[in-house]
Amino acid sequence: MIRTRFAPSPTGNLHIGSLRTALFNFLLAKHEEGSFLLRIEDTDRIRSKKEFTEDIIESLKWAGLMPDEMPIFQSQRLNIYKSYAEKLIAEGKAYRCYCTKERLDKTKEEQKKRGERPHYDGHCRNIKQILDKPFVVRIKLPQEDIVFEDILRGEISFRYSEFDDFIIMKSDGSSMYNFANVIDDSEMGITHVVRGDDHLTNTARQIVLYRLLNLKVPQFIHIPLIMGEDKTRLSKRHGAKSVLEYRDEGYMKEALINYLSRLGWSYGDKEIFSLKELVKYFDIKHLHLSSAIFNPGKLLWLNEYYLRTLPSEKIYAYSKPFIERLFLKENIKQEFNEVYVKKAMDTVRIRTQTLKTLAHDMLFYFKPPQDYEEKGVRKYCKKETLHSLEELYQNLKDLENFNIESIKDVFDKIIKKYDLKLIKIAQPVRIALTGKTISPGVLEMLEILGKDVSLPRIKRLIDYIKAWNEQN
Ligand code: GLU
Repeated sequence: MIRTRFAPSPTGNLHIGSLRTALFNFLLAKHEEGSFLLRIEDTDRIRSKKEFTEDIIESLKWAGLMPDEMPIFQSQRLNIYKSYAEKLIAEGKAYRCYCTKERLDKTKEEQKKRGERPHYDGHCRNIKQILDKPFVVRIKLPQEDIVFEDILRGEISFRYSEFDDFIIMKSDGSSMYNFANVIDDSEMGITHVVRGDDHLTNTARQIVLYRLLNLKVPQFIHIPLIMGEDKTRLSKRHGAKSVLEYRDEGYMKEALINYLSRLGWSYGDKEIFSLKELVKYFDIKHLHLSSAIFNPGKLLWLNEYYLRTLPSEKIYAYSKPFIERLFLKENIKQEFNEVYVKKAMDTVRIRTQTLKTLAHDMLFYFKPPQDYEEKGVRKYCKKETLHSLEELYQNLKDLENFNIESIKDVFDKIIKKYDLKLIKIAQPVRIALTGKTISPGVLEMLEILGKDVSLPRIKRLIDYIKAWNEQN
């Protein structure tokens, strides 16, 4: 049975690149009905922070990539790593190194002068007795080349001379990343490791450790890192944000997951995938080695796509916190009427980009426009418009059933009578209702806003045009 894991270090907020790694591990396991696990690699006491662990867990939860078992925290397993290190020492495969920083620096300096690659010179390899001094634990690097298989890349080999007797336990008794990583992957029964190709040399060190510890080596898949459009490693400079920042900006998990899945993986020409479909179609064979370029426009495009196409109920649930925030910000006291908000939302979501802009685009449904778009007024609210607009106002006022059909009849009548193009009368009404020249359909807005809200807004624009024309 396949068991994968996501093993972030809580030294920063969860970045979208890491979410992609989590996603691929998740999909690989779920495609085979296996398990996906989470391990928090918090052995670095200085850089690891509780708030980052919380950020990681919240991000995974939001994205729908929850682990199947309780997360493992490396900081709670220090004794385990220690006992493995002691075993290696007892077997003569590792040793305590008492070298001071000064000595190490000096050796490296001398090596550099001789034109050698700086490396540990094995000074403490043969010290048998335990000294009363601080020490680190180093492995005795076997003098044989390091070879392993990567599912995507085939055989990978490193010359042992590229490495030295590397440290597995620090002087404060904590484990180095590679050591804890190997022990935990083994104890957690991990069968496949998907991670960024920046870890290739770590994998080489880990292969040495698997051999020394006599542990079964998992299968590795090193994926190319995500790059910015300028082909440098993805960072904030490219507009890439943390997962929760995307959430708070109004991106939906459907869009982010869909987007990330296609960075380094494909399934024919298919572009749109739900998480369920990804689980169904995900196959390691379709991962590719070309570097994945981050394209914020494509992500936004997917977000727009999901805003238009997900069920209304879902978009409502997602957008509610954003609308509530808007109410607070705009000091809107109106009661939150679910039926009304849903109707309003459905007219706006087909032409907006994020949940945040969705809420913002809905503002006129709760608050009359504060001002009118000047260009629109100049173009559409001329003196000649007044007659038809006033007559439209009067006719709407007389309507008993203020619904789309009867509103449309009124518009048709005015258009005919004044021989107008629809835009000539629709734009002034649009400006009256929203202050803008782009908005949902005028007829549906009128119906949703209702007579009591719409009419005073139209009247206000009529008065405004009159006053404006007098002045100009
Ligand atoms: N803690 C490591 C990282 O965040 C884990 C790498 C791995 O997947 O083994 O890069």
